[in-house]
Amino acid sequence: MSKEAAIRIAPNVWRIPAARFDFVNIYALVDDDGQVTLVDTGFKSGPAKAAAGLAAMGKTVGDVTRIVLTHAHSDHAGGAATLAEQANAPVAISAIDAPFARIGQAPPRDQSTFLGRRVGKLSAPGKDFPAIVIGEEFEEGDILPVAGGLRVHHTPGHTPGHVALMHESSGTLITGDSIWNVRKLGFGVKAFCTDIKLNRQTSHILGELEYQVAAFTHGPHVAEQAREKVRSFLRDAAKKK
Ligand SMILES: [Zn+2]
Repeated sequence: MSKEAAIRIAPNVWRIPAARFDFVNIYALVDDDGQVTLVDTGFKSGPAKAAAGLAAMGKTVGDVTRIVLTHAHSDHAGGAATLAEQANAPVAISAIDAPFARIGQAPPRDQSTFLGRRVGKLSAPGKDFPAIVIGEEFEEGDILPVAGGLRVHHTPGHTPGHVALMHESSGTLITGDSIWNVRKLGFGVKAFCTDIKLNRQTSHILGELEYQVAAFTHGPHVAEQAREKVRSFLRDAAKKK
């Protein structure tokens, strides 16, 4: 549980804790020329955390040239509208989650849990998070021009357009919310998923990729035997089903 405003997890990748106890993370990737891409933006309160993290990296919001979102939920997209305006930077998200980001509403929740039905009822455009102007949409297999290349792995279920992002040159996988590392590896809060079963099914992709660092959007990153730990979690989870 770090109190640092930014933690370097690979030569040009930083984790910026955006809520208490590392519960939510923003990631910052730095290009060779110094420009910064933020992956996710935390809650509405995220921009202040991003600014503090960037300062700890010797950067400012003015160095941010792109914002990439793993999915259209308030704890990842909540700070996007403000940060995009502050940095005058375009926001990118998967084409599937883009319509939700544009209206500031999370995709539908899985109706199989009580909490999911409740959360779904409270959801409305502009109420979940501030509406975002989306500058770029991406899809499975795209390589975003971020710090040498960030590959898009579509892992639907948590939201329909949810993605994990692989920074291949540093061997860092930004997992998104398919799985998290809050206290231990797990599947996160079911009620927030659009399709709980599909999330479990597509999470196997995270066990098949090659990486050294697992950069979770919730919880601390894992830098040692990350892939093995993710694989063994997924293997055990599949057995329990
Ligand atoms: Zn989340």
